[in-house]
Order: sequence, then C-alpha cells, then structure tokens
Amino acid sequence: MKYVIFFALLFSFVQAFSQSPGYQVYALRFASMGHPSPIADWSDHAPRKDSINIDFMIWLVRGNNGRNILVDAGFLPDMINTEDAKEFAIKQYVRPDSTLSKLGLKAGDITDIILSHPHWDHIDGISLFPNAHIWIQKEDYNYFVGAAWQKGGFNGGFNKRDVRLLVDMNLARRVTLVDGDNKEIIPGIKVLTGSRHTFNSQFVLVETGRNKVLLASDNIWVYYSLEHLCPPSPGGTFDTTAYVKSMQRMKTLVTDPRFIIPGHDARIFAIFPKISEGVVKIK
Ligand SMILES: [Zn+2]
Repeated sequence: MKYVIFFALLFSFVQAFSQSPGYQVYALRFASMGHPSPIADWSDHAPRKDSINIDFMIWLVRGNNGRNILVDAGFLPDMINTEDAKEFAIKQYVRPDSTLSKLGLKAGDITDIILSHPHWDHIDGISLFPNAHIWIQKEDYNYFVGAAWQKGGFNGGFNKRDVRLLVDMNLARRVTLVDGDNKEIIPGIKVLTGSRHTFNSQFVLVETGRNKVLLASDNIWVYYSLEHLCPPSPGGTFDTTAYVKSMQRMKTLVTDPRFIIPGHDARIFAIFPKISEGVVKIK
C-alpha cells in the first residue's frame, strides 16, 4: 500500500512539473540612440547633468511548450528618417527579426507578439512575423485606432501606417484584445496594466520555472525611474500617480527587483549574461 501511495505521489508530482511551462527570457537590441541622453529627458526630477545610453530592444520569451513569444516588435528601417525618430539619431540599426538568428530562430518561428503599447518603436515591426498572433489591451487598441485621432485626442508616438496595419491584422483575426489587468493570456504568461504610458499600456510577467521576470517595456523607460520611484518626463504617462504606484506594485510581483526590465535603458546589457552581441539572457 505504501508503495502505491508513493508512486501515486511521484506520478502527480511529475505530471504537475511537466505541465507547468518554463520560459527563458532574452533581451535583444536592434538599435541605439546616436548620442548619450540626459536622464532628465526620461525620468522627471533626475539631475540634468547625468546622462544615459538609450537602446531599442525586443524581448524573446522562449517556452518549452513550442511558444516563441515576443514582447514588442521594434520598427522597420524606413522609420529612422521620420520626424518621430529623428531626435534619436538612430545608429547600429538591424531589422528586429534578424536579431533572432543569434538564438537560432527565424521570424516565422514567432508564435505570439505581446504589444506593451502601440508606439511606433514597439509596434511597427509586427508585419515581420508572418505567424505571430498579436495581444494588445482592448482599451489601448480602441484609443489607438479611434479616439487618439479625434479632437482632443493624443496621438504622439502613433504612426498612421501602424494603425492601418493593426486594423488589417484584426480583420485577419490575428489580434486578441485583452480586457484589463492581471490576465494569464498564455500558460505562465500574465499581462498587467496600470502605468498608463499609453491609454492602457500593459507589462508582462513571465514564469520561468525558477523565478518571475517582469518585462515592463515603456511602463518604466529607464532604471533611474524604478530606483527613485519617480515618474517619466512629461508626456510619458496619462497618469503620473498611477505610473509611480504601478512601479511599486511591480516590486511586489518579483522576488528580486533585478528582474524588472525597463524599456530603453542600455544598462541591461551590462547586468545580465551576454549570449551574443546585443543579446542577454535575463536570469
Ligand atoms: Zn519605446
């Protein structure tokens, strides 16, 4: 009898373990800003004299369940010369999909793209991934394709071609509109809201098996904001108080604040182990 119980326990343990998906998380740089940037341009109240390096990146969440998930998709090369992008004097650009080869993946291997928000530098690359299903917050989608372009709407950072692209993808049934905070959209992958970087931007909490990784994207632009709990520079959120509260909440969601990853701070590439040029594993 004892043996029966032992094997039953062992079996349920093995089953539970094999069912919980584990993910590996990587940051992949695809462009950099051409000159150091005052931190105060990103983080309100930061000293004017200090500057940081700004990178553009996507994040790969690679599952043992066949899912290759991107958080954000970067942008296509012709964006570099638009008015929106000129201020960044972008250098060292490589097309976001080509960075995947450093991890042995192709664009067609991407199964999902979770859009943290629809600013051009995060959404414009979605057309590069022919098999990806897109996940975006419903309120963010609605604002992006609708109210942002009405009188009194705010469409800074939105590009019209991205609006058309996302609408087309929705017509092709390739988009899921996520309705609100704290939703597990894929086993082991949760999206959360509250920062309001855009109308209802989201961030991603990944269960790696050993710990949790929180991909904040632009819900925290740079480490300085997280470390000093200070809001972004003006225009970085619809709700300054909510943005700061959201960072406090993020700290309760991970075992170590090291696993909270801001959207544009180049420092990440010095913190985590390097896999290849411009690629680190977040562990
Ligand atoms: Zn951004």
